[in-house]
Formats: sequence, structure tokens, C-alpha cells
Amino acid sequence: MPPVNPERLLADVRECSEIGRFKTGVHRPTYSPEDQRARAWLVARMEAAGLQAEIDGIGNVIGRGSGSGKRMLIGSHIESQPEAGRLDGAMGVLYGIEVARAGLPVDVAAWADEEGYFGHFLGSRSFIAEVTEQEIDKSVHRDNGTPLRAALIKAGYAGRPRATVEPGRYVGYAEAHVEQGDYLDMAGMRIGVVTGIIGSWLYRIVAEGVQNHAGTTRMAIRKDAGLALAKLCVAIDQRFPQVIGERSVWTTGRMIFEPGAPAVIPGRGEMTFGFRDVELTTLERLDATLRQLIDDYNRQGPCRLTVERTAQSFPALMNKFFQDALEKAAATHAPGSHMRMPSAAGHDAQILARKMPSAMLFVPSIKGISHHWAEDTADQDIALGVQVFADGIERILAG
Ligand SMILES: [Zn+2]
Repeated sequence: MPPVNPERLLADVRECSEIGRFKTGVHRPTYSPEDQRARAWLVARMEAAGLQAEIDGIGNVIGRGSGSGKRMLIGSHIESQPEAGRLDGAMGVLYGIEVARAGLPVDVAAWADEEGYFGHFLGSRSFIAEVTEQEIDKSVHRDNGTPLRAALIKAGYAGRPRATVEPGRYVGYAEAHVEQGDYLDMAGMRIGVVTGIIGSWLYRIVAEGVQNHAGTTRMAIRKDAGLALAKLCVAIDQRFPQVIGERSVWTTGRMIFEPGAPAVIPGRGEMTFGFRDVELTTLERLDATLRQLIDDYNRQGPCRLTVERTAQSFPALMNKFFQDALEKAAATHAPGSHMRMPSAAGHDAQILARKMPSAMLFVPSIKGISHHWAEDTADQDIALGVQVFADGIERILAG
């Protein structure tokens, strides 16, 4: 049994939570000063754990173990959503450091921008050589439009080489994470062994209407772009339940009306819409249904809706042997308190799975709260998780 030290791990978790602390969570947006402090802190923790650590040209923090032979890559992320939980990402990276301290042959990584401020899984995709210099040239911050190049220069990471996977170095990849949903909590389970990670498809939907006076314009002749988007949302909510899979979810994350004034009929509206599922066929069906609903609206008007897919990730299956190893470890440390489950959130493991066998382990999120500063997991579950994770890694390496 790998000699992990749960108390030492919990102390790391607490120390890391102080960097960019926001209420009981953290605020560490990608490449922000808080995020840079967290990356520098991680480098020091990795070095203290005997790993050779560096921050690469995209901001990935990578700690490499010494020696040759079979080795696992362990990772997650250290930046956070705005005003979000202290464990989302950080816990998995700190598990990696604890596993290294327990003496297992591992490299540990914190992938940059998993939270998608500048792109889609930028750090892990860069590591598997799927991010071109051209993509970096044109990437901008999702909210304020800051070019990624400028952000990298400001953070001091520009001009450094970007690390990529060394062929043959790894048996595979493993990532531990808080569940971010309430399946484990509701079921009274303490460990989740992930079977696969859902695909997530995102869209920008634009409504073009006519901006006019909110008092003098007769209802009959209005072309209200805001109302057009609202109607589409209702149509989606009525139609989607007939075509979804068991765990499909869909969300209108943002809606803006222009000019956005109380006395003006919106002349233009824009919304982001997305759905997720573990089955590719379901994702394709939802895509077709969305486009059908938009066509249906456009046939009647009075506004015009257009749709553009802005991001598309595909479901990723976790390695069967790795799942078995994690399950055996869970059965040893938490008999009767573990289950297999898909991941409803996207994770870097879905990117790494394109290059090597991959696995994920979940611990429960209390009440399923996530992407909120109140997100939390009981200390005893964090401690149990690192034992199961380390034991599972050892079984994978022995296999
Ligand atoms: Zn995360």
C-alpha cells in the first residue's frame, strides 16, 4: 500500500485555498496574479516532493519524477472559475504531489486554462501537440477580449517552450476531481470511478430584429429580438425531452439584448447555448433538433435567428483496466461505498485520453454545488480519495 499521508495532503489543500481566497472558495482566473501565485507555489511544492518542476510556454506546471521505467502522468488544473470552489482542479493536482511523495513513479501536471477563459482545454491540448501557434495568435479572453499572447507576456510565460508528451514515457494518465454534481452525495457513496466523460457542444445564437421605441411601436409590427430568443428557449425546453439521453443536460448560459435599455425594443439579441451527453449519437440528435427549431422559427419570423457552433468536445471513454484497478482500490478502502459513473463535466482527462489510456476518480461534492465558492467536499472524503487514488495508481503500474 503506498504510504500516503492524508494529513499532509489536507494541509496542502488548505494552504493552496489561501491563494486568491474568496469567502470559502477561491478566485483564480487563468493567468491572473492569483493564478500566477498558485502556479509558482505549485512549482515549490513539486520541488519539495522531489519532482523537477517547470512552467511551460502556455502556463502548464509540470513536475517530472527522476529515474526511468514505467511511470504514470497525473494531472488536473489550478486556476478556477470566477469566485469558485477551492477544490475544483487543485485537489487533483495536490493528490498527484502526494502520490509522488508516497514514492510512486509519477509526473504531475497542472494544465493551464482548463476553465476555458482563452480557449478549450488549452494546456492539455498543447501538451498533446494540438494547439498551433496560429491558434494562440487568434485566441482572446472570453469576457474582456485580451489577446492570449498579451496575457502570456504579462504572466511571464511567453517565449518559453511548450512541453509536449514524450512518446513511451507514460503507462497512462489519471486525474482525481470533485464530482461537481450530486450523484455520489445523493447515493451516499464516497468514491466514483469514471467510465467516460461527456461531450459538450456549444453554440452562439443571434437574433436580428428591429430596434424601436418601446412606447410608440404597435405590438403587431414589432420585431423584438429579445422575445425571439426567449421563444426559442421555451421551444427547446419543450422539444428536447423527446430526443435526449438519460443524462443529457442543456443550458442557456448567457443572453444579451442590444441596446439593452428599458424604453427600447431589442434590435439584436445573442445567447450562448450548450448541451452535453455521454453518447455521440445523442449529441448529433440534439444538434439536429436545435437547428430544426431555429428553422421552424425562421419560417414564421418576425425576426431572423442564426446559429453557429462555437465549441465541440466529444465523449471520451476511460480505460477499462484502469477503471478495474481504481475499483479494486475503492473496494479495499471504502467497501460498498463506491460506484461507476460517467462524468457530466468536461475534464483534461478527455484530452489526454486521445494520446494514452486514461482514468478518473471522483469524490463527492456536498449537495452537488460547483462553480461556486460554496463548493466543498468533506475532509474525510478528500483523505479517503487520495488513499484510493494512490492504491489504484500502484495497481495500474503493477498491471
Ligand atoms: Zn475542474
